[in-house]
Amino acid sequence: MSSIQAVIGKLEQWAPPRWQEGYDNSGWVCGDPSAECTGVLTALDLTGTVLQEAIDKQINLIVVHHPPLFKPLKRLIEADPITQLLLKAIRSHISIYAIHTNLDNVIWGVNGEIAKRIGLLNVKVLSPLNHTHRKLVTFVPQEHATRLKEALFAAGAGTIGNYSECSFSSTGTGTFKALEGANPYVGQKDKQHQEREEKIELIFPITVQSELVHALHAAHPYETVAYDLLPLENQFSEIGAGAVGDLPSPMPAQDFLLQIKKVFGSTCIRHSHLTPNPIQRVALCGGSGKSLIDNALSNKADAYFTADLGYHDFFKPDGRLLLADIGHYESEQFTSDLLQSFIQQNFPNFAVLKTGANTNPVHYFF
Ligand SMILES: [Zn+2]
Repeated sequence: MSSIQAVIGKLEQWAPPRWQEGYDNSGWVCGDPSAECTGVLTALDLTGTVLQEAIDKQINLIVVHHPPLFKPLKRLIEADPITQLLLKAIRSHISIYAIHTNLDNVIWGVNGEIAKRIGLLNVKVLSPLNHTHRKLVTFVPQEHATRLKEALFAAGAGTIGNYSECSFSSTGTGTFKALEGANPYVGQKDKQHQEREEKIELIFPITVQSELVHALHAAHPYETVAYDLLPLENQFSEIGAGAVGDLPSPMPAQDFLLQIKKVFGSTCIRHSHLTPNPIQRVALCGGSGKSLIDNALSNKADAYFTADLGYHDFFKPDGRLLLADIGHYESEQFTSDLLQSFIQQNFPNFAVLKTGANTNPVHYFF
């Protein structure tokens, strides 16, 4: 048996709410974290059909990508369609949780899934976020260094790209004098003590800082632990918006459009002038990604596809890349599958379903 909070906790480790954009409202929408989870329904959007599906299947948690609440509400009245939906969810004891731009901003999230669907290789974030990591520097008696490093790795430090357990150690001499009231691990009071120590340096995402500092104190033998937490200017290729990667082999622009039309089931694709060069390096962003056209250009992408582009956006590439709008729902549709498989892998004890409803509000007449 698992509580709804256990499911949400796992999702928040995977796509920390801290990585959401400033304008966003990812996270809890309504519900009871302490309730036992009877099942999960995943969807891109909360609609009446999605909610009814959860009620009919006796599922009490809906995880959506798009937050149904964006602006603060001042009143709860049935006349407003969103409020109506939320009141119905509350009356039916259904919890709702939104995992939006924080899932856009991790490479294993929305955009990594899109890249996988079209078979991109060497995938990294198109526009890395700043200040996502810090460095921990600490000093420990040499005989405790291995055990301490293991504890820090287990708390989430030392992972860079496809490498884990990354650290640097150097040795030197630490000094200290224990004063009245101290209970030193080694040495005598009121006398300077010298100890051969290992200096350990490792980086960590800021989302795990409190767990890491806790693990440091728990695994370190000293009563008072010396450590530094340092800001870093480095950017990391896993945290940020969009994605860029390479097709296994180049293909003509027209063939590329045909392929993405097929993969995403787009009724029509709006695109800039077809470029004469073959397409191999591809940038992408699920949902509204007009703000990343410059990133696609500076990453030397041959094509950039996203959604919600305006008329003037199509002038911007000026023949330097193929720009395509494949539709918002179409670009992000696999997010429901991604959420379903992540939750099901971690919680095999209840049903995790993807909604059977197509929630795309846009229709095409042609
Ligand atoms: Zn979206």
